[in-house]
Amino acid sequence: MGVQESEPLDVERIREDFPILGRKVGGDVSTPGEGPGDDTPLVYLDNAATSQTPDRVVDAIAEYYRVYNSNVHRGIHSLSQEASVAYEEAHDTVADFVGAEGREEIVFTKNTTEAMNLVAYAWGLEELGPGDEVVLTEMEHHASLVTWQQIGKRTGAAVKYIPVDEQGRLDMDAAAELITDDTRMVSAVHVSNTLGTINPIADLADLAHDHDAYVFVDAAQSVPNRPVDVSDLGADFLAFSAHKMCGPTGVGALYGREHILEEMQPYLYGGDMIRKVTYDDATWEDLPWKFEAGTPNVADGIAFAEACEYLDDVGLERIQAHEQQLTEYAYEELDARGDVTIYGPPADDRGGLVAFNVDGVHAHDLSSIVNDYGVAIRAGDHCTQPLHDKLGVAASARASFYLYNTREEIDVLLEAVDAAVELFA
Ligand code: PLP
Repeated sequence: MGVQESEPLDVERIREDFPILGRKVGGDVSTPGEGPGDDTPLVYLDNAATSQTPDRVVDAIAEYYRVYNSNVHRGIHSLSQEASVAYEEAHDTVADFVGAEGREEIVFTKNTTEAMNLVAYAWGLEELGPGDEVVLTEMEHHASLVTWQQIGKRTGAAVKYIPVDEQGRLDMDAAAELITDDTRMVSAVHVSNTLGTINPIADLADLAHDHDAYVFVDAAQSVPNRPVDVSDLGADFLAFSAHKMCGPTGVGALYGREHILEEMQPYLYGGDMIRKVTYDDATWEDLPWKFEAGTPNVADGIAFAEACEYLDDVGLERIQAHEQQLTEYAYEELDARGDVTIYGPPADDRGGLVAFNVDGVHAHDLSSIVNDYGVAIRAGDHCTQPLHDKLGVAASARASFYLYNTREEIDVLLEAVDAAVELFA
């Protein structure tokens, strides 16, 4: 079913899965949920930073600790076996979620950032040298930008950037010129966490593959809210974080094509990734365990899979369509206010977030005023400092939407923005 024809979400029903959305905010933040004056309904619009967690994901964590808490891959007792099966099957679920061939291609990491560092260290440090080039986009998150920058400094490889045009889109003509036989890696964000731009990853992958370069997709802002398939994108690597997709903090995933992961050296050494050790040498476990050294984050890994199943049950296409409607509404209403500057492409061609500035009001002040209305948004550079430099601002405010948000919540945001304008006029 296409996004257009998909059934709308029953948002009121969905909100029941997230008790946190029913809480009030305000008052004394040193006593969470209990401060004096905490009487303002929460409007949570900071989903691009971290999404909320439905009961069934919280329950999956509690069940693990209550019923079968144990180390994995190290015991033949029942609890260890139960935990190992659940943890391993969690990799299958996450693999399915992004269209990977199987668990061999899914390494659980701490988050997107760690997945990027894993490839940068395990592949980049080994493979790159003077004369090689890594091509990024000007809209990369620091997780990718800083990581490849540092690997470039250590290996002598050059880092180049595909420019972003006035509308916040990639200049694909420039990309075609920048990606050459010297390029070894193209690393691009799928949906920009600042501009909302949905990048043409499959086209970038074609360009990269024409020159035998690999493609790393930062899918932190796309896997949570739209169907993502690694084959459709042509991704060689792809990274995402559970905490942005209804899952827990502390776990994320690296997808890597099996043959590439096979050829890569481990990133971390220690228990769980070892097959055989002598005093002189060691051999490694099969994929994906070769990249999961030490006791893994078992509970959160299992809950990560539960979050994928939850999103599948709701339907990614429906979530995408819902977010699209909210985004268009927020964009158009903000845009109609003459004193607001919105960054990135037009309303009908962006992911579920809007970064903006209000004339004469610093993003931090704005964020603080809307907080008085119970609205959680983000203010700052959203880990894209060089992009903000290019936009000519130090910071922006960002509202980001998810499956449980409503138009009425956006109305509260708009009311709060108007109040801020009034205050600073
Ligand atoms: N990439 C993008 C596009 C992001 O939005 C984020 C988080 O904000 C990250 C990477 C880093 O994610 P994490 O902090 O979970 O590693």
